[in-house]
Formats: sequence, structure tokens, C-alpha cells
Amino acid sequence: MKIAIVGAGAAGLMAAITAKRLNKNLQIDIFDNNNGIGKKILASGNGRCNISNTNLNFTNYIGENNSFVKYALNQFDFYNFEKFCKSIGLLLDIKEDGKVYPLSNEAKSVVGLLEKAIESLKINLILETKIEDIKKEKEKFILKTQEKEYKGYDKVLVSSGLGAAPQLKATEDALNIASNFGHSFNPTYPSLVGLHTDFEYNHKIQGVKKESLVTLFIDGQKECEIKGDVLFTKYGVSGFAILDISQYAVYPLSLYQDVQISINLFPEKNRNEVLGMIESLFKTLPEEEIVSLLTGIISNKLAPILLDINKIDKQTKAKDITAKQIRALVNTLINWRMKITDTQGFKHAEASGGGIRVDEVDERSFESKKCKGLYFAGEVLDIVGNRGGYNLQFAWASGFLAGKDISK
Ligand SMILES: Cc1cc2nc3c(=O)[nH]c(=O)nc-3n(C[C@H](O)[C@H](O)[C@H](O)COP(=O)(O)OP(=O)(O)OC[C@H]3O[C@@H](n4cnc5c(N)ncnc54)[C@H](O)[C@@H]3O)c2cc1C
Repeated sequence: MKIAIVGAGAAGLMAAITAKRLNKNLQIDIFDNNNGIGKKILASGNGRCNISNTNLNFTNYIGENNSFVKYALNQFDFYNFEKFCKSIGLLLDIKEDGKVYPLSNEAKSVVGLLEKAIESLKINLILETKIEDIKKEKEKFILKTQEKEYKGYDKVLVSSGLGAAPQLKATEDALNIASNFGHSFNPTYPSLVGLHTDFEYNHKIQGVKKESLVTLFIDGQKECEIKGDVLFTKYGVSGFAILDISQYAVYPLSLYQDVQISINLFPEKNRNEVLGMIESLFKTLPEEEIVSLLTGIISNKLAPILLDINKIDKQTKAKDITAKQIRALVNTLINWRMKITDTQGFKHAEASGGGIRVDEVDERSFESKKCKGLYFAGEVLDIVGNRGGYNLQFAWASGFLAGKDISK
């Protein structure tokens, strides 16, 4: 039996290794437009590769129907993943919060070991080959590049990812390929990405980082809140809390809904505690200018800006500030509202939301419900995971189940 896999990322490589281990008679050709395999694995986790997570739940995934991932996460849970890793010689480092990294702390070793497994199983790698279209004629699949046709495949897995990180040659070709087989897809959008804000002083506070509580509002309704680092940048906001919030902000933004965030710079204190902290600071040093006093509790880049926002003269002495001004200041410190105007785009996104509709794909085998012998796995599907190893874990799990079915 002749198998084609489009995309040598986590999903495609896992599928190929799984299928060939189960059926040595398969001829497997993996096509990739890059000059090497696993380019996104190499880039992941800043080169450390947050490869999986021990706390796996379908609620860590977003999509039109996120319960689609339940079967895959059950069948290929973390312990099965760990077993697979051992089988290729990869040992793991499990952190207290459940995040998992290679013990070597290097994504390179993950890709190196996958490459060895592919070689020893005699799976063919056809690199620098961009598959533009796939056709099925007389029960056989034909893969087409711009110049050439590859014929005679009994089954094809499309695991070519979506548009996040185009600098790594990411494409959305899977969507055209799927459409030609009658599949529909949900619009794609950058996920786990920095957000642009309408705040006019962004350039003055860039580089400031503060653990905060970020609340997302869509058309005035609270959507979710996430605690973590906020990094102020020249275009707006980034940092872990913002990347996480972006997963819920970007799609509504693409629909022109009103998207706003509120930043609470003191998530561990309530309003009265923040008010008390400021009042006591101002009482202790009444002759000091408030701008310098504020640098005792927030970054010296933020202090003058927060006063500007509230139209409070920076040179005001602490003893002269009014109760109304203090209340306004406290409000900004714990409920700093900003309008989200755009995102940093696919180039800076870690993942892509949207994709091929999962209701048209079998959750157990990842085979298309529209075309026998055609499979989809990994990021091409309308499933995007939270930060923390969830995207790679879905790629591994879906690739595993697709590979198992392909081997039959
Ligand atoms: C900077 C960055 C950091 C990340 N960090 C993490 C992390 O720490 N943890 C985590 O879980 N996830 C992380 N992710 C997300 C994760 O890497 C992806 O979700 C995952 O790799 C998707 O795997 P995949 O196999 O579905 O697709 P991909 O890894 O995208 O693989 C698809 C392959 O197909 C190739 N291809 C595309 N189009 C074609 C075509 N037409 N013909 C032939 N080949 C084609 C691509 O070049 C690519 O090699 C990160 C992503 C980025 C960009």
C-alpha cells in the first residue's frame, strides 16, 4: 500500500512512524515544502519545545466543536506520548505545572530523534516540494506540485498546518485541498499573538512588564480573565497573559466586534487595599511630587503616563492631590481599559485558529467523512490549543490515530 503525507511537522511525522511500525509493508512518502523536517517543533518554546502537558483536557482547546479532541486525548494521553518518546530515545522533563519539555531542553534533539526514526523505518522524505493540489482518480490519489504529479497513492494524510509563522514556510494550502474534496472550513485567524491597542502612549511605556489580571470584554460583555505577565510594547501589549487572552479576542475582532481589555496591575489586592496603599504613601511624604512617589509602586515609565491619562499634573505635591484624583488613579491602576484594534498577525502568532471543520472528519481515525482514504491531522483542523504544550499534543495525538488507521 502506498501512502502520502503532506507536511513533515509533528502530526505528519507521528503518523508516518506509527503507520510504518504497525505495517512494515507500507511505502510512505512524506512531502514538505521546507528543506528539513519539523521546523515549527524547532521554533517551539523558544527553542526549548514545550512538547506536551500532563494536564490534558478538551477545555484546553478552542474551536467550533472542541469536544472533538476528547477521543484523541483519551487514546493518546500523556503516558502514551511518553511511551512513544522513549521508543525513539527521547526522555522528558515534566515540570510541576504540568508542562513537558525534552530533558535535553532543546527542540533540536526532538527533531533529530524523529528524523532518525523516519530514516530507520525507511520512510521517504521528499523535501522542498510544495503540494498544491490533490485529486482522486480510479481509487488512487494524485499529488500535484506546480511542475510535477506524484501518482498511485492509496491513502493521503494532509498535515500541512495553517498560516502561523509564514517565515517558516507555513501555508494554508490544506484549505484549498480540503475544499476540492467538498470540505468546508472556518475562517482562520492568528492565535497566541500580541495585540495592538488604541493607547496613544504605547511607545513611551514599551518594555515595561508587570504581572497583572487581564479581563477581556467583547461588545461590553466580560468574556474571560487571565492572570500573568503583561508586556507593554510599541504597538500595544504582549506577554503570557495577553497571548492567552488573544485566543478569545482575535476572532471577535475579525468580525468587527468591540474588543477591549482591562488591566489590573495589582491583582493580589482589592480596590480598598490599593487605595489605602496610595493614601498612606502620599501621607507619609506629603511634600514629594506624586510622580516620584508613584515610582515606589509602579515602573517609572508607567507613573507619568498614568498621571497623564487622568490629567493630573505630575508635579503636584502629595498633600495637594484631591480625593477624586486619587480615586481616578486607583481606577486606572486596577481597571486600565484599552481598546484592541488589531493583532501582530500570523507572522508573530504561535498558532492558527479556525481551519477544516471537525464535524466532517472522523474523531477516531481522522479520516475525512467526505472522501475515503483522505485524512487530516494537526493544526489544519479547526482546533487550537492553549499555550503550554497543548498544540503539539494535539498534533501528536491526531497524527497517532491517523497513522494507526492508515496502516490498516
Ligand atoms: C514560534 C512558535 C512557537 C511555538 N511553541 C509551541 C510550544 O512551545 N508548544 C506547543 O505545543 N506548540 C507550540 N507552537 C505551535 C506548534 O508548533 C504547532 O501547533 C504544531 O507544530 C503544529 O503541528 P502540525 O504538524 O499540525 O503542523 P506544522 O508543524 O505546521 O507542520 C506542517 C508542515 O507542512 C509544511 N507545508 C505547509 N504547506 C505545505 C505544502 N503545500 N506542501 C508541502 N508541505 C507543506 C510546512 O512547511 C510544515 O513543515 C509554536 C508555534 C510557533 C510558530
